[in-house]
Amino acid sequence: LMNLTRKLIEIRTMLISIDQSDALKLPSIVVIGSQSSGKSSVLEAIVGHEFLPKGNNMVTRRPIELTLIHTPAENGKPAEEYGEFPALGLGKITDFSVIQRTLTDLNMAVPASEAVSPEPIDLRIYSPHVPDLTLIDLPGYIQIASMDQPESLKEKIAALCERYIREPNIILAVCAADVDLANSPALRASRKVDPLGLRTIGVITKMDLVPPEQGAAILAGNRYPLHLGYVGVVCKSAGKKINKDRLGTVARRNEEDYFGAHRELFGSQSSLMVGTDTLRRRLMEVLESSMAASLHGITNAVQLELEEAQYQFKVQYNDRRISAESYVAETMDLLKARFKEYTAEFRKPQVRAKLKAMLEERVMDVLEQLYWTDKRAPELSAIGADPRVKPEDVEPYWRYKLDAAASLLTKSGVGRDSTLLVADGLRALIESIAQGEPFTFHPRAAERLVQFSHMLLRERIGVTSDQVENCIKPYKFEVEVEPREWEVGRAEAVQLFEREMKLCEEKLKEIKSRVGGSRRLNNLIGYVRELEEREREKQQRRLTASEEEEPAADLNGDDYRYPPGQILDARHALLYSDRIGILKLRLAALKSKRCKAGPENDVLCPEAFLNVVADKLAYTAAMFINIELLDHFFYQFPREIDSRLLYDLDRKEIVEFARENPIIRKHLDLQERKDKLEESTVGHLSLPTPSTTITRALFVS
Ligand code: GDP
Repeated sequence: LMNLTRKLIEIRTMLISIDQSDALKLPSIVVIGSQSSGKSSVLEAIVGHEFLPKGNNMVTRRPIELTLIHTPAENGKPAEEYGEFPALGLGKITDFSVIQRTLTDLNMAVPASEAVSPEPIDLRIYSPHVPDLTLIDLPGYIQIASMDQPESLKEKIAALCERYIREPNIILAVCAADVDLANSPALRASRKVDPLGLRTIGVITKMDLVPPEQGAAILAGNRYPLHLGYVGVVCKSAGKKINKDRLGTVARRNEEDYFGAHRELFGSQSSLMVGTDTLRRRLMEVLESSMAASLHGITNAVQLELEEAQYQFKVQYNDRRISAESYVAETMDLLKARFKEYTAEFRKPQVRAKLKAMLEERVMDVLEQLYWTDKRAPELSAIGADPRVKPEDVEPYWRYKLDAAASLLTKSGVGRDSTLLVADGLRALIESIAQGEPFTFHPRAAERLVQFSHMLLRERIGVTSDQVENCIKPYKFEVEVEPREWEVGRAEAVQLFEREMKLCEEKLKEIKSRVGGSRRLNNLIGYVRELEEREREKQQRRLTASEEEEPAADLNGDDYRYPPGQILDARHALLYSDRIGILKLRLAALKSKRCKAGPENDVLCPEAFLNVVADKLAYTAAMFINIELLDHFFYQFPREIDSRLLYDLDRKEIVEFARENPIIRKHLDLQERKDKLEESTVGHLSLPTPSTTITRALFVS
């Protein structure tokens, strides 16, 4: 018999851990009784120890969930008796007066203003003398209600009690034999929720205080029939007079004395139930059969929930199991894989191309600064076009110019700028990974990722830029150009110029359409030229005759002939068309036989020469950036992922990390629910059908 009850109690605990839904609740026994009805004495008689708080002022303020666990003797030795408060972590308590004191403390800890707390105290008692039972001792709302208390408090207590005496719980109504049953507060309370008396069991205490005939009449239950019947007990505990450890025995002796003396009424021939032992057995039977009744419904409910969970798991996840650990590992692998994939953008040719583009910009700047704005620029083209002029005949002016241009280019901080360009590319790459899925769900990990990548970059930038700068140093003094390199540089310069020219032409076209056609633009340009001419004259005059100023003469209506915006456009157009003029000249030079001939014509074709220099700078910079920055970073980054993102996490943080991703959280939740339900069905609920077990158990016992 005991085995089944214990199983059922285990199931109850487990089901409550999965789900709070009422469908999964198993019944327990709730004890109610007014003050002095002998409720404590009954509970203590069942346990066999005095352990409940005593004293006139002592009113139970929190429900006590009392779980009794039968511990059979081992190797012929009786098992130890002890109590445990799982929530307090005090361990085994073998001294029952300590349990009593702990309960008193827990009770007194409820502030007087609250009077009662719905928070139950979980107390487990292990003993070879107890049956497997769950009993709930409630704040004595009955006695409090009769005291002078505000209505709100009465309601609070009543609500708490009502929650506990709801179905399917069993009510143990404790009534004293010397109090008229009609006045028993416990029975009155039970009747409210169980009017037919189907799940109330009556305990009549203090049988010794009434004439035996009267006691027998009460137990017969004719006046207030209860389906589960009445049990009569005598368990007078005279407090100090009794040796605590022998409480059970004393109670039994009381009962044996009393019921033995009235065998004609209470003997085995009668159908009346008397004695604490009978009460214990009766409670077990009642609990078990009502659990068994609930069990069928629960089996169905659990089965349904399990099927639903299994179905959802199949449909949503195709039965794929995951764990927080596997998710974290996969995420890190994904991160590394994505990183590797992106690093293709940072192979040497790609880096070289990026650096070259940066340097080409710089070449154009240098050309603009030194050549295009030089009024003598057309001369250079003219010299180049004249086949009679030998390279060595060219004026030194142009040689100096070329040297100046080359050193502007080589001394422009190439080491630092090219390193920063690549480092910035890496930074942007990491940031784009950190901003993508699944890191959108893991902001803290994303931040760490960005942080340590910055740290890695910071460590290398200084070394790398110094190294690059060092290695391009020779070019600051001399650049030797091979014919093949020259040809490449020349062809690239042609492309660059063609691109630049196209750009200027597009700008010019834009302006043309903005001001309203080419005629209008020509007029505007004519006007701007005029203005510039006048400006020059004015300046001339100012220089020659500085004292005789006639400023008023400048102010004629002409200045307002066109809106200022259009004048500005015209000025730009003028610049663009001048620029196109030069570019055309230079393009012709670059494409000329002379330029094609080779590097000996460098002075005449500075564009080709500077491009070759840019090529060499880009090549060298790319090589050393690759060694000093990229190789380090690519080696170190995946290792940092492991050490800073992965190995840093303990089990709790791993679960937290995984659950940050809502998709994974859902998956894990469903999987866990399915597992628990499966466990409860496989482990417990698939017992033989409850009713047959019960019957068999009853026969055996
Ligand atoms: P509670 O207030 O309902 O918990 O009641 P107690 O268990 O503290 O008992 C109240 C008083 O009744 C105590 O003085 C007990 O000794 C006494 N008492 C309890 N059971 C019996 C009994 O069976 N017979 C007699 N004569 N007195 C009892």
